[in-house]
Amino acid sequence: MIRIEDVIAKVQTNRPNSDVDLIRRAYLFSALHHRGQTRASGEPYLVHPIEVAEILAEMRLDDVSVATGLLHDVVEDTLVDLDTIKEYFGGEIVGLVDGLTKIAHISNLSKEKQQAENVRKMVLAMLTDVRVVLIKLADRLHNMRTMQFLKPEKRARISQETLDIYAPIAHRLGMGKMRSELEDLSFQNLYPEEYKRLSREVDARRPELEAALDRIKATISEKLEENEVPFVSIEGRVKRLYSLWKKLKKQKIMIEQVYDLIAARVITPNDRKYCYLTMSVIHDVWTPVPERFKDWIAIPRDNLYRSLHTSVIDNSGQAFEVQIRTEEMHHIAEEGVAAHWKYKEASLGANSDDESLDELRNTVEKLLLPLVESNETHEDSEEFVESLKLDLFPKDVYAFTPMGKVIQLPRGSTPIDFAYAIHSQVGDACTGAKINGRIVPLRHEIQNGDVIEILTTQSSKPSRDWLNYVVTSKARSRIRHWISEQQREESVDMGRKLLEREAERFRVTPKKLINNEAEMKRIANEYGLSRGEDLLASIGYGKTLPRNVLAKYLGEKFDDLDPEKKAESRLGSGMKAVKKFIGLGEDAIIVRGVDNLLTTRARCCNPLRGEEIIGYISLGKGIVVHNKRCKNVNQLMVNKERIVEVEWAKSDREEIQSVQLLVTTENRTGMLAGITNAIAEIKTGIRDARANVSKDDFGIIEVTVEVFDKKHLDKVVSAVEQVPGVIAVERVSG
Ligand code: MN
Repeated sequence: MIRIEDVIAKVQTNRPNSDVDLIRRAYLFSALHHRGQTRASGEPYLVHPIEVAEILAEMRLDDVSVATGLLHDVVEDTLVDLDTIKEYFGGEIVGLVDGLTKIAHISNLSKEKQQAENVRKMVLAMLTDVRVVLIKLADRLHNMRTMQFLKPEKRARISQETLDIYAPIAHRLGMGKMRSELEDLSFQNLYPEEYKRLSREVDARRPELEAALDRIKATISEKLEENEVPFVSIEGRVKRLYSLWKKLKKQKIMIEQVYDLIAARVITPNDRKYCYLTMSVIHDVWTPVPERFKDWIAIPRDNLYRSLHTSVIDNSGQAFEVQIRTEEMHHIAEEGVAAHWKYKEASLGANSDDESLDELRNTVEKLLLPLVESNETHEDSEEFVESLKLDLFPKDVYAFTPMGKVIQLPRGSTPIDFAYAIHSQVGDACTGAKINGRIVPLRHEIQNGDVIEILTTQSSKPSRDWLNYVVTSKARSRIRHWISEQQREESVDMGRKLLEREAERFRVTPKKLINNEAEMKRIANEYGLSRGEDLLASIGYGKTLPRNVLAKYLGEKFDDLDPEKKAESRLGSGMKAVKKFIGLGEDAIIVRGVDNLLTTRARCCNPLRGEEIIGYISLGKGIVVHNKRCKNVNQLMVNKERIVEVEWAKSDREEIQSVQLLVTTENRTGMLAGITNAIAEIKTGIRDARANVSKDDFGIIEVTVEVFDKKHLDKVVSAVEQVPGVIAVERVSG
């Protein structure tokens, strides 16, 4: 059993100017009031506060923290109240003890709610004195270490809370050792079966892994000596069970596929140049895995962690990770803010407790304050804890340009966010991206440490689609801006064309109207628009009818010039003036009411002569003609004002159109020949035909035929359907 004198000796070694008398008094006070109490293990209760004080002394915290460690449960578990503590130990310690004391048991609150209230109280107390959190972590660590005497449900509940709140806080504070131990203990108590299974699996490999580590360590030390690169020590480790378990679950991989199952760690003297020198030696000996290199020295993690990580593969195919850092970086990686404090203190000299405490306070606040600030508004403690959990996970990723510039982005960002973060012009012209040398889709999620090269083409333009997967507001607003500008340009263009056509129908010279700025402005004003260009845009969007614009322009003369009225009087019927175009290609389609308008067949459904069709005024492409049954038509109907009636012009000549058919058949020989014969027999051209076998063993034949119209196509389809072995014939869109 640990004795208080051991703790005091440790404090005196670490911090010679400590007030050990304060620690002795706290010990006696605690011993007096916890007298007669026992822990679940049957040991005297006092063991717990002494162990907590020991952990704090080990963390090199100050005398006040160590004394508070001894007193932390006195108010909660004995009859002593806060006033008494204040009387004996003063305001500083009573503040800490208060922050560490759970709220009084309130019987009408659920267990979860009380737990949540306690976490909230602790996190808020931390704002007054950051040492509250460090003492709480030490308390939790000792409780986790001695959990075996508790009932399984209680163990599970405490472990879950540790995983949700305390381990992430330790991580946020850079306390690697604390976090690892909390996580592994929680894992063991929360999922005992999986813990056993995984540790058996790792243990079975351990001799082999240790042997590999020994070889690796020997090689590294030999090569470093050979190259005269100094180092302090080389360690080896097998991945911790909890982090291994998480990785296996998250990536759904086997233990053999884990790159960093074993890792060597090289600790160098305190100059980062030795880290980079060591790394170049390592990369000279083994082949690095390109996307597995992380430079946390150039860009420390949020939690102050600094280290180089690289994964390499040896000639036996064994992958492993090498971590390289200086002694100082190593202490910070293990102990986090506490170590940071110690290093600062060393440079500040002795008797600098106040300053170094301020330093610690500043660091911890910088790391933890955002949690509290973003959670302050929650009235409800459970809600508070829920959002605290979210906030405890780091929100940003860091990626590099090929030139090594760091770009910080929110988690979930894609190469498009990255491109816009570099420069809005890079974003606008982005056509692709390479991450760590490999082409990736633009919706790819960026990971920490990725090196990203943005591929651009001068003429390339942003796509509306990008809005579905950008995360940063900069990218989002640039894309939106571009789309609206683009749409405007296109609709002004379209509006001009529509107005020109309409003017011609009224025998008005289009230029006379459109180039007459004053007149255009006057009409625009009548629609509540300020400029002629706005009027054109409105026509292009389909909001304003060109016919009505002409009415406003011509005034009284409108009725006389109206071609529809004239046609009516001439033909004596209500028939619309429809000019028929005869010919190839797009002219085969006519638009009711408007002549000479550019039409294109929609690529999604490639309508075939004879099929029912519908037109949509698009921006920039004139009128796009869809098959009425095309799946996109419903969506277009949202903008009803842009729908126009279209029909097929009668044609004297036969116009040929290619249509692709997808034929599903039984998987037998001669299918392709049978189908092409059937098509040739009805004198139909075949442009292309190819056969494949599907995964579920059907024949898949793609054949492109040349047909005149829908009737012709129907004939081809039924001919193919007659071929023995054919299961289905489908027309492929586009
Ligand atoms: Mn305790």
